[in-house]
Parts: sequence; C-alpha cells; structure tokens
Amino acid sequence: MLPGRDGTGLAICRDCAGIARSFFCRRCGHEGLLVGDKLCERCTLTDRLTTVLDDGTGRPRAELLPLLEKLRLTDTPHNGLTWLAKPGTTELLTALATGTIAISHDALAAHPAWRKATYLRELLITCGILAPIDKQLMLFQRWLTTQLADIADAEHRALVQRFATWNELRRLRHKAEQAPLTPATVRVSRERVRQAAALLTWLDSSGHTLTTCPQADLDSWLAANPQTRKPATAFLRWAGQTAVTPRRRLTRAPLPAATIQPRRQQHALINTLVTADDWPLRERLVALLVLLYAQPLSRITRLRRTDITIIGPDVFIRLGDPPAPLPPPLDGMTRQLLEHRNTYRGPNANTDWLFPGKCPEQPIRPRTLNNRFSTLGIPIQLGRTTALRELLHTTPSPVVASMLGIHPDTTARI
Ligand SMILES: [Zn+2]
Ligand SMILES: [Zn+2]
Repeated sequence: MLPGRDGTGLAICRDCAGIARSFFCRRCGHEGLLVGDKLCERCTLTDRLTTVLDDGTGRPRAELLPLLEKLRLTDTPHNGLTWLAKPGTTELLTALATGTIAISHDALAAHPAWRKATYLRELLITCGILAPIDKQLMLFQRWLTTQLADIADAEHRALVQRFATWNELRRLRHKAEQAPLTPATVRVSRERVRQAAALLTWLDSSGHTLTTCPQADLDSWLAANPQTRKPATAFLRWAGQTAVTPRRRLTRAPLPAATIQPRRQQHALINTLVTADDWPLRERLVALLVLLYAQPLSRITRLRRTDITIIGPDVFIRLGDPPAPLPPPLDGMTRQLLEHRNTYRGPNANTDWLFPGKCPEQPIRPRTLNNRFSTLGIPIQLGRTTALRELLHTTPSPVVASMLGIHPDTTARI
C-alpha cells in the first residue's frame, strides 16, 4: 500500500513518507484504510452486520448466517458499508433477524420498499436461504405491490388482491413450474389486474356494484374499449366462480381436466426407461425421477452434485428433507452418471450442477429436456401427472404437497 506522496506527487510507502499512523487493522492485521477504532473496513462491516442481524439474543440469527458470510466476504467491503448506511437497509435486515418480517418470498414481496426488498430476495436466493424463484414472477409480485398500493378504495384493493393472489399468482406459479415465465405471460396478468381495478372504479362511478350491475351495462362498458378492457373478463369469471358476484353470461373456457395415463401404461414406460440401454443415461435418469417422484423438470434440473450423497453401497438424493435413499436401479444409474458426467459438461468444467447445461454455470434447461423427451417419444408431462395422482392416492394431500414443494390448494386441483 502506498499512502504517502513524495515531493513530485509520486505515491510512496508509509515508511518513506514518514507517516507514523498505523495502517494495520488492530484485529486482522490487514493493511489498508482504517475506519474508526483502528479497524479495517471488512472488520467494521463484520461488526455492523453482526449487530444488525442480531435476533435479540446478542447473536446473529442462525438462518441468516450465510447472508452475513456472503456480505462480509465481499470483494468490496467499502460498498457493503455504503449499502448498510442507506436509509432503510439496517431496519429491513433487523426486521428479518428479529422475525418482524418473515424470511419468505411472500413477506418480502409484500414489503413497501420493493426495490430494497427485491434486492434482498436476490441475495437470500444466492446464499441459499430462499429457494430460487422465477425472475418474471418476482417482477410481477413487485409490480403488484405498488399497483395495489395505488388503489385508493380499501374494499376494491382487498378484492383485487384476492383476485391477483388466487387467480393470477397461482396461474403464474403453475406455469413457472413447467418453464421460465416469459414477459408476455406476465403482461397478461398485469392487464387483468389493471382492468379489474378499472372495472371496479367504473362500477362505483356508475352507481353499480358487481352484484347489481345489469349485464347490458357491463357489456357496453366492455364494448366501449374492447382491446383494453377485455382482460377484465378474467376477473369477472373469477368473481363468478368464487361467489363474489352472481355468475355472468360470459364465454367461459372450461379448464381442461388434467389427463393421466392408465397405471399399466405408466409402469410399461418406467420399465422401458429402466431397460433401454441404448437411450442416453441422463435422459433416462431424469425421466425416472419425474415418474417415480413426480418432481417437475424445473426442480430436477436444479439438483446439485451435493444433493447426492454416497454412503457405502447406498445413494441418497435430496429432493426434500431428509435425503431419501434411491432404490435400484436408480442408485446404480446415478453412480454411472457421476462417473460419466464429463461427457455432459462442455463449458461447465467446474460446475456443481448435477445436470449441467450448455451455458456456463447453468443447469440444463427444462425446455431442452422436454424436446429430448418428445424426440424419444417419452410422454413426460403425462407421466408426471399420473405419478402425482398415484402419490396423491397413497399419501394424505398436505404431506405430498410439502414433499413436492407445492401449495395444498394447488394439489386438490391436479
Ligand atoms: Zn518505501
Ligand atoms: Zn480487520
């Protein structure tokens, strides 16, 4: 480090410059800028974080330790200190540490300081405290928080919030499970929420309510600006189904019943996957995990090497907690995959993903696998719904839901 300047303005070291002040941190010995109390920036940052993340017992909340480590070990402790000094940061962190705000996607999504809360969610995902979530879904939640806050009428706000939560968020979550959401899909939900609020405002101004408004008036409101207002029909449909309002005569597309295949066919498919040695091992293993554990592809592709534990002859997989032993022949196939993983690595030489993709640091995309399965003639989604049904019939629904990481309300519909 060259903290001094000689006569010509050239940077020179401390001894040459005759500076007496110590530039060594009194705790870690690091040579650098000292902030108050002769501590370096990193040690100061560590102390600040330890205080801010205190759960009330004088120690940082255990669940948040990975966050503390990540923030503390940043390359730029100076930026870390700047971030902490910004208004609201320490308050939000302390609220998480003390439990005032739950450490969950939903709680943070509802936080009024959405920019800060979203950044924190991303951090919590990076350090493994929160599960990864679809980026577009996160953006939608963030948008929804501000949108709802803009609805002045409390009753309207509550109704639109119910609609957004039970109809739109549920739809988006379900879709995100199959493949990453596109901005277009999220735009549809945004328009539905916007037009739901617009419809309620118009009803108020015209002296009607959802229940009393004559069908003809409703139709002419829609007809006046169909392109913009059409998304409101999703809200009307939902309101009709949830008995918020009497059913309206609207073209109602029925939900297709989830299709399943006969048990015999399902078992024939599993048998084919077990025995088809000429098919690629990776595809066979992924398909079997889908068919036997009813896991979505998006979940399986996010398995890491560390989610597999080998203890003697046994192979364990962490799909939930605790890790479950893999039955034969899945155990042998998993061992084989680990031995031959190099074949699939490509630019992913040091990756931790169990099923690495073509892009650096990324797992294989569910869509890529879906294409592979349709080429091989494996009805993967049909197989998964069938597996889900079979699991549902043998285990109480909430248990299955927690095992699969889906909400009980969704299970009932599958
Ligand atoms: Zn010198
Ligand atoms: Zn230090």
